[in-house]
Amino acid sequence: MTRRFTLAAPLFAAALLSAGRPVIAPDGHRWWSHVQYLADDKLEGRNTGSVGHRKAAAYVAGEFERAGLKPAGTEGYIQPVRFHTRRLQEDESSLTLVRNGESEELVLGEDAIISTRIDPAPSVDADVVFAGYALTVPEMQYDDLAGLDLRGKIVLYISGGPANIPGPLRSHYQSAAERGRFLERAGVIGTIGVPNPDHMDLPWQRIALSSRQPSMSLADPALDQQHGLKFSAVVNPAQAEKWFAGSGHSFDDLVKLADAGKPLPRFPLHASIRAKIAVERGEVVSQNVAGILPGTDPLLKDQYVVLSAHLDHLGIGEPINGDRIYNGAMDNASGVATLIDIAQSLNESKPKLRRSLLFVVVTGEEKGLLGSRYFVAHPTVKPGSMVADLNVDMFLPLFPLHSVTVYGLNESDLGDEVRTVARARGIRIQDDQEPERNIFIRSDQYSFIRSGIPALAMKVGYEKGSPEEKIAKTWLKERYHAPSDDAKQPVDLECAGRFDDLVRALAEAVADHTERPRWNSNSFFKRFAQ
Ligand SMILES: [Zn+2]
Repeated sequence: MTRRFTLAAPLFAAALLSAGRPVIAPDGHRWWSHVQYLADDKLEGRNTGSVGHRKAAAYVAGEFERAGLKPAGTEGYIQPVRFHTRRLQEDESSLTLVRNGESEELVLGEDAIISTRIDPAPSVDADVVFAGYALTVPEMQYDDLAGLDLRGKIVLYISGGPANIPGPLRSHYQSAAERGRFLERAGVIGTIGVPNPDHMDLPWQRIALSSRQPSMSLADPALDQQHGLKFSAVVNPAQAEKWFAGSGHSFDDLVKLADAGKPLPRFPLHASIRAKIAVERGEVVSQNVAGILPGTDPLLKDQYVVLSAHLDHLGIGEPINGDRIYNGAMDNASGVATLIDIAQSLNESKPKLRRSLLFVVVTGEEKGLLGSRYFVAHPTVKPGSMVADLNVDMFLPLFPLHSVTVYGLNESDLGDEVRTVARARGIRIQDDQEPERNIFIRSDQYSFIRSGIPALAMKVGYEKGSPEEKIAKTWLKERYHAPSDDAKQPVDLECAGRFDDLVRALAEAVADHTERPRWNSNSFFKRFAQ
């Protein structure tokens, strides 16, 4: 890839009219300076609970203060969050596949990884049943668990779901929280997931490396999502065939069915697993950071439009090409920089917004959206006063901005707002083009959605089959969750500046709208609203 820095003077210095007031679109340089700070090696990849993350949180708090935001944490701008940590001790752990009395010891990292996302039991010995997608969607009368004897068993499943189930439902019911409820009800004690090899954002090698990182869960027991599970593993799709030997089915055929959007057969595998799992446990405290730009309308100022972005990344991990620091420049120093850029640009233009804006920079996203889940359970503003969430995570400004992909576009009237502000800027809005990637539930907007708050997430858009799609896919393959997602990579500054301008204008529009945002009457997610 060639470098695509915009080094010349801002090309996009055109004054835009927004709400009758001229606003200069940011040129991306201020955004980039925040990315550079947050993605510097000195911050050591901002792992949840680390010193680097604490430094990053202090930086964000300082920038919020400079932008004139009011502190909205519990200790100034900071809201501390406690976590339990678990690190697999691979040398003392093992996983054995047993079939017809024959045991095959699997190679951890190559055949499969043992996940510590749930707190595993020290040993597990149980039969394995293939349960298709292991998906239950009550609204569609769809249940992969129905009619199977799963009590005390482990289910093996392929990620995804049948194409006739709408994308948001399919994503929602694949979340750990929802899947876990149905597995628990069926008496399942563990899961073995196999990613569909045709829909993997991360190559297996990087999944395996990341399994050496500690997992975390919220220390608050009310927010635990264990669901009675004692074991969790992920199988390398390239080594998945051995699990199906003698079952009358091949993994290859099952993937073909999955790719065609079909339901999958379900069947016992006549196999069991024996696992020994050694885990080193600990505790850490990490930081959410929150600041408020107060609104001016006497009736509406107690309502908050939330702008959210996660600060944490993966910290120091297994080296790739000799580099151990996972800087997380795009994931997600970029989104935090967008929030700071917006706060600072509002501080310059000083609009009188009717509602308040609540800037929430969260920790623990990479560990399973934990910081945002904690924030919605323990909000630092009055419960029920957050009326919308606009989330920015890894929006990838890698080429000029022509379109923005909006996740949740057709779920609430926030969709109309974003269409309006984008039209005024000559930006095309498109819905999620790849629902199979589950993006709508993969970042912090989902925590807000689950507590009933209409939300959107936004990324720089591209068309299927375009050169831009190729750039974005290559980025995922080479840099996503790799040390090369650092501040040395090429980015398009003008694109980032225009993106920030769009999100800022959207936040202003939502803050000024007389009616608070509403879920569309046909939205599945409407059910979470109180
Ligand atoms: Zn990430």
